[in-house]
Amino acid sequence: MNQKKLLFTPGPLSTSLTVKQAMLQDMGSRDHEFVNAVKQIRSELLTLAHVTKEEGYETVLIQGSGTFGVESVISSVVGKNDYLLILANGAYGERIAKMAGIHQLRHEVIRFAEDEIVTPAAAAAILAAHPDITHVACIHSETTTGLFNPIMDIGAVCKKYGKVFIVDAMSSFGGVQMDMKEMQIDFLVSSSNKCIEGVPGFAFAICKKSELEKAKGQARSLSLDLYEQWAGLEGNGQFRFTPPTLSLMAFRQAMEELGEEGGITAREKRYKTNKAVLDQGMSVLGFKQYLQPAIQGHIISSFLYPEDPAFNFERFYEKLNNRGFIIYPGKLGKANAFRIGNIGQIFPEDVKALVAAIKEVMEEEQVTNTVVATGR
Ligand SMILES: *Cc1c(COP(=O)(O)O)cnc(C)c1O
Repeated sequence: MNQKKLLFTPGPLSTSLTVKQAMLQDMGSRDHEFVNAVKQIRSELLTLAHVTKEEGYETVLIQGSGTFGVESVISSVVGKNDYLLILANGAYGERIAKMAGIHQLRHEVIRFAEDEIVTPAAAAAILAAHPDITHVACIHSETTTGLFNPIMDIGAVCKKYGKVFIVDAMSSFGGVQMDMKEMQIDFLVSSSNKCIEGVPGFAFAICKKSELEKAKGQARSLSLDLYEQWAGLEGNGQFRFTPPTLSLMAFRQAMEELGEEGGITAREKRYKTNKAVLDQGMSVLGFKQYLQPAIQGHIISSFLYPEDPAFNFERFYEKLNNRGFIIYPGKLGKANAFRIGNIGQIFPEDVKALVAAIKEVMEEEQVTNTVVATGR
């Protein structure tokens, strides 16, 4: 087998051997075991979001990557006479804006700087000025930079003004405790290959049933029709079109392992420890982070390139890659940065090994950071 590679990315992520092994058996889409797995996954996702079917919440699984799930929600729940407000402070907010444009939804995009959070006060001011807005979409963990938008407070503002609240919690759900009711979220979207630590293959939307029902007949596409997808899953327990069978089997195993680890609370703690080890190690190496610590989440961090002209990201990336560590390029509008994720099957000792490899590569490349470590 090839050398083991550890992914310090925002997804796909490193997964456990047992999650991969759950995909070794071919599975028919009408197989009893498979249909039961789908049922179990849908129900357990509600539990992870601290809601129940009795309280009026439903899980819809959608084939494809996370974007397919977001697009399914956006293009299905915003009706012809509705008006969507998109609160954007990064590439994923912009992606929702693009969807709204393609599907010709009535919408408005309010942009914030990439290194600033969406403030509840700003959201309130916009909603007060635009009473025709019906839906609000926002990203929880903006993976572009790694910041966390204050979803709970934005949710409270949305409810005060009577708006439907759509949250892309792709890179945070499963790695951050989120109570959908308390956060007043009507649609929460995430995917199989983020903090639940499954493999790519599908997205899921946890939906307030009363809002989901309003989506009947108003989708802009067949395959991304959120209501029909739900109706299919509810009707005979099956997907309308070929399901990602093995990805679902892996996901069921991943959910079991999340439970064994101690649930979201324990996972959040491990990710935060990863983040603390990374921050400490990188700061010793003189790296500066793009975001202010107050708005930085524990999912992924953006590190500014060293000012030393000897630094070449391609070589830096390749040399880390050759040592078995995959990091992630930056995606910032204004600054040159690379990203390191703390999520997936990676543990504090892996982060230490990554930092040691970064040190080695810096020395090999003779790159110095302006803030040089002291006290050696
Ligand atoms: C990963 C991610 C997505 C989905 O990306 P895909 O490549 O479609 O899986 C959407 N939003 C955020 C915030 C993400 O981190």
